[in-house]
This record gives sequence, C-alpha cells and structure tokens, in this order.
Amino acid sequence: MQISERQIELVNKQIDALVNAGSFYGKKLEEAGISGIKNQADFENLPFSEKSDLRDAYPLGLMTAPEEKIVRIHSSSGTTGLPVIIPYTAKDVEDWAIMFARCYEYAGITKNDRIQITPGYGLWTAGIGFQNGAEKLGAMVVPMGPGNTEKQLQMMQDMETTVLCSTSSYALLLAEEIEKRGIQNKIKLKKGVIGSERWGEKMRKRIQDILGIELYDIYGLTEVYGPGIGINCKYNTGMHYWDDYLYIEIIDPVTLKPLPDGEWGEIVITTLVKEGAPLIRYRTHDLSRIIPGECPCGSCYPRLDTIMGRTDDMMKIKGVNVFPSQIEEILKEFPEVSSEYQIRISHLEGKDTMRLYIETDGTVDFADLRDRVAARVKSRIGFTPLVKVVEIGLLPRSEKKTKRVIDERYD
Ligand code: ZN
Repeated sequence: MQISERQIELVNKQIDALVNAGSFYGKKLEEAGISGIKNQADFENLPFSEKSDLRDAYPLGLMTAPEEKIVRIHSSSGTTGLPVIIPYTAKDVEDWAIMFARCYEYAGITKNDRIQITPGYGLWTAGIGFQNGAEKLGAMVVPMGPGNTEKQLQMMQDMETTVLCSTSSYALLLAEEIEKRGIQNKIKLKKGVIGSERWGEKMRKRIQDILGIELYDIYGLTEVYGPGIGINCKYNTGMHYWDDYLYIEIIDPVTLKPLPDGEWGEIVITTLVKEGAPLIRYRTHDLSRIIPGECPCGSCYPRLDTIMGRTDDMMKIKGVNVFPSQIEEILKEFPEVSSEYQIRISHLEGKDTMRLYIETDGTVDFADLRDRVAARVKSRIGFTPLVKVVEIGLLPRSEKKTKRVIDERYD
C-alpha cells in the first residue's frame, strides 16, 4: 500500500508529538536527524519500533500527551518480563470505539442486536473494547466477562443474545455445551465476533455447524488501541482495516524491506491520529499479507489476510518465506492425510531442501498422494518439497506441543 498525501501529513503530526514529548521514538528520530517525511521513501527510512522499546518505557514512558489529557491506561500481558503500559486520551478512547463500531457494522450487526461479551475486563483491552464499540453502535450489551459457563448460557437464553463476542476456544466450549444440553432451539445467536487467537478452519466449521451462526474475525493488539482495528466482512475475503486511523505495511522480517501487496510477511503498523501513545512502524511480529484488489462488498478499506502465525515460526527456503501454518492449510485439503506432519529442512549440495513427512492409511496410493501434495505446495508456495508418505502412527506424537519443524541447516 502506497502511503497517501493525507497519511503523510498525519504521520508528520505524530512525529512532532513524539519529538516534543521526548519519548523513546522521538529520541530515535533526533539521533537519526529526521524531523519529518515527504514521501514513501522518507517513510520507509523511519526507524522501526519494537515491543522491547515499549517495555523499556515502563511505566509511563510512552505518554505523549500532557498528563491532564490522559484518561485511562491499558496493559498488555507481561508473560515475559515487564508489561507494556499504553496511555489513552479521551479522543483515543473515542476513536477506538468508532473503529470498533465500524467492525460491528461490517459484520452486519445493528443497534437492534444484543451483544454478549465474554472476554475479560480490566487492564487488558478486550472486554472494554467490545463494550465501547457496542455502545457506540447503540446495541444492548450483556457484559459478562469470562468464565461461569452456567450463567453465560442462562443469560444467553434469558436476554435472547444475538451476538457472541469471545475467543475461538471459548466459543467452541459454549457451542459444545449448548449441543450437550440440547438447548440449540432456545439460543437466538446469529453471529459470533471472535478475537485474539489464531484458529483453524476445522474449529470454525465446528462452531458454525453446532450453532448455525456467522463468524467474524476481529484483529487488534493492545499496543495499537486493542481489538477492533480490522474485521472481515460477509464475503469473508480477509479483514478490512481502517486506514484512516492506521497505515499498515508488510515487511520481510529478515531483510526488513517492505514487500509488495499480495506477498506474505510481517505486519508493521503506524498510528495516524493517536495521542496518548502514538507508534511509528511498530513491528507486530504477526504474519499476514495485504490482499490486492477490491472486495466484492465494494468497501474502500484495504484488506489483511488471516493471521498465519508469528514471525518466529517462519522458515526461509530457497529464498521463499514459508511458515508451518501454510503447509497445514494445504494438508487440510487432503482428507486422506492425518493431522500429523513433520517438516525437515536441510542444505544439500548448495541447495535448501524441504522434506515434508505426512501420514495416511493403507487404502491410499502413496506415490500418487506424494505427487499431488508436492504439486499443491509448488502451486501455492512456489517450490517443490520432497514429500514422504508414511503409515499412520509413524510420526512422533507428544503430549506437549509437537515439534513439527526441524531445521537441520544450522546443526
Ligand atoms: Zn468486504
């Protein structure tokens, strides 16, 4: 996506605010002798920002607006070390609600809907984000927060909830509980808005089959407002994101060079109007791509593809960036293949080689399956792997997370 004149203007305002506040990013710019940008090339010269920068700013080093304008903080989970604290002004809270309400609208949700919110409230951005957006839209909120499935199901019936907001795993848990109790006919759900986890087609289909509802993926991260910066529309061709609030690039996570639309890489986000804690070229480490062309819905907002994982999972093979979830997606198209697979990458005679081990049962012609899988990988990803078909049960299983990628190049 080319940066527009309007976006350049807004980035320059964000830069001024960051420099004036003497924030970590303002200092980075001063060191680099940058005071503003005029075009795409200037923008692409701006330094990146990283989660570690944000952590180093703990507790309130990111605060870019004057204290009296800050109305709230949120925090990302601190699984490794210090959490990140993001200050919000009243305008940031309002902008976020506007974006989130837009998400609901793209999912076809209206002020006549009743929205049951199951993500948590508190320091993190989930529950309150869903709530502010719903109130901005004018819908009726049933603010449950997480857990207490008994009460969730009771309220869902009594309030005649039409929209469920949750993580994918909690949506599945609720769906299975509804099925188990045989209360499908008492449930009025029409739609689910699902955030904050990567989830596969199999899980989506299971929830849809049990509940008969439409499911929408919502995107966001605490560092950049929270959930609500993008969502898929009913055509389900990727997530529209709000480029009046954000400029999004996809970069090669190894060379850090921006990639053309359509290519897979890391999502990098620049906020355009944030006051409390603006971010320039923030590396999300989420993998996706910008989908070229127009969505059948006619929306002018650009689209990101489904998040395919994290940059840490990425493999570079024969100069092509590959990640396990791409292989997983391809294997799902072969019902005769089990859910287990293993990828081994080696470097032989000056060339990278990927061996892909898959399992099937004795009723399948191994050689034919091998050729079909190899051809599908070639057409989707761009190189031909050596596919090895083995009997079901031969690949290693683990109670913990199974190691599926073994890179022998650096042993
Ligand atoms: Zn659309």
